[in-house]
Amino acid sequence: MRPVEQILQRGAAGKRITPEEALLLYTDAPLHPLGEAADAVRRRRYPDGVVTYLIDRNINYTNVCVTACKFCAFYRAPGHEQGWSHSLEEILRRCGEAVDLGATQVMLQGGHHPDYGVEYYEQMFSAVKAAYPDLVIHSIGPSEILHMAKVSGVSVEDALVRIRAAGLDSIAGAGAEMLPERPRQAIAPLKESGERWLEVMEIAHGLGIESTATMMMGTGETAAERIEHLRMIRDVQDRTGGFRSFIPWTYQPENNHLRGRTQTTTLEYLRLIAVARLFFHNVAHLQSSWLTTGKDVGQLSLHMGVDDLGSIMLEENVISSAGARHRSNLHELIWLIRSAGRVPAQRDTLYQHLRVHRTPADDPTDDRVTSHFSSIAMTPKRRSLPLVETR
Ligand code: SF4
Repeated sequence: MRPVEQILQRGAAGKRITPEEALLLYTDAPLHPLGEAADAVRRRRYPDGVVTYLIDRNINYTNVCVTACKFCAFYRAPGHEQGWSHSLEEILRRCGEAVDLGATQVMLQGGHHPDYGVEYYEQMFSAVKAAYPDLVIHSIGPSEILHMAKVSGVSVEDALVRIRAAGLDSIAGAGAEMLPERPRQAIAPLKESGERWLEVMEIAHGLGIESTATMMMGTGETAAERIEHLRMIRDVQDRTGGFRSFIPWTYQPENNHLRGRTQTTTLEYLRLIAVARLFFHNVAHLQSSWLTTGKDVGQLSLHMGVDDLGSIMLEENVISSAGARHRSNLHELIWLIRSAGRVPAQRDTLYQHLRVHRTPADDPTDDRVTSHFSSIAMTPKRRSLPLVETR
C-alpha cells in the first residue's frame, strides 16, 4: 500500500496523523479518496446524517480600530470621517430584531477602539443579557480580549473573568487569520502573534470558557504554513479540549491593502477541509464557509467531512465589506443540506439540535429569515436582489 493510502486509512479510522502526514495528504492525495476518508470520519461521528445550521446575527459595535490589518476592509482608523460606533440602544435594538427572527446567538464583534476597555464590554454584555437572557453571547476573540485588558490595565485572566460574569458565554474563533509567524506578520503586523492568540484561548478554556477556531486562507501562505496552523490549534486542543469546532474561510479581495494579489482556489479550500477533518481527531465539529466560498462549494464540502454549514447570518458586515457577495435564506440553507443527502437541523451554540427537518413537512415557514437582511455592506439595491428559489 502506498504511504498516502495508509495515512488515509488511519485518518479515516480516527487515528492520529502527524503534521507531516497531513501535509502529504494536502499536496499529494487524490481528491476523491481524500474526500471519502474525511467523510468516513463524519459518518462515524454523526451516523444520523445530520448537518446543522444556526440562526445568528453578527453585530458590530464599532469599526474604529488601531490595528490596521492589511486584509481588513471593515476598519477605519481613529479620527477617520467614516468611523462609527453604535450606541447601546442600537445594539439592543438589533439583538431584539434577531430574537424576533428566531436567532439563538449573537456574535458581537468590532475593531480595537482605543477607548474600549473591559468596562465597555461588561456594560454591553450585561445589558444584552438583561434584555434577552436566552440569547447566547458567542462573541469577540483573543485580539479584542488582549486589547481590552491593555486599555484597562488588567490581566487577560481578570478581563475574561469579568466579561464572563457580565454575560459572555463563549469566544468566537475570530482573529486567528494565519497563526504561523511569517504569514501573520505579512498581513497583520500589529496584531498579537499566533502563539499569543492561542495562549488567550488556553487561558479561557482553563476558566471553562469554550470557543471555536478559525483560519483565513488565501493571503499568500504556503501549504506547509496552512498545516502548521492546524498543528498549532491541535496542540492546544490536546491540552484543553476547549475548541468546539474548526472553521476555515477564504480571504476576500476587495477594498483592503492586499488588493487581492493572492487568493485561494476552490480545490485548495476543499482539500484543506478534508485534511482538517482527518487531522483534528480531537475537535468535534467542522464548519465550512458558504459566505466566502459560495453556496455550491459549501454544499460540496458536506461530502468532504463537514457537519455544519454555520450561520444564516442575519447581519454580516466585516467579510462582506471585503467583497463576499453570497447571500442565502433559511429555506435555501435547508435545501442545500437536504439535496446533498443529509438531514438538516437547526442547532444552538452548543451544537444541540433544536429542530430536525427530516422531511420538507418539518421545514420552518418563516420567510423573513434571510442573510444580510440588515448590513452596512449592502446597498439597498443589492439588498433587494431575489434569492434563489428553492421551493
Ligand atoms: S481585522 Fe479586526 S483587528 Fe484587524 S483591522 Fe480589522 S477590525 Fe481591526
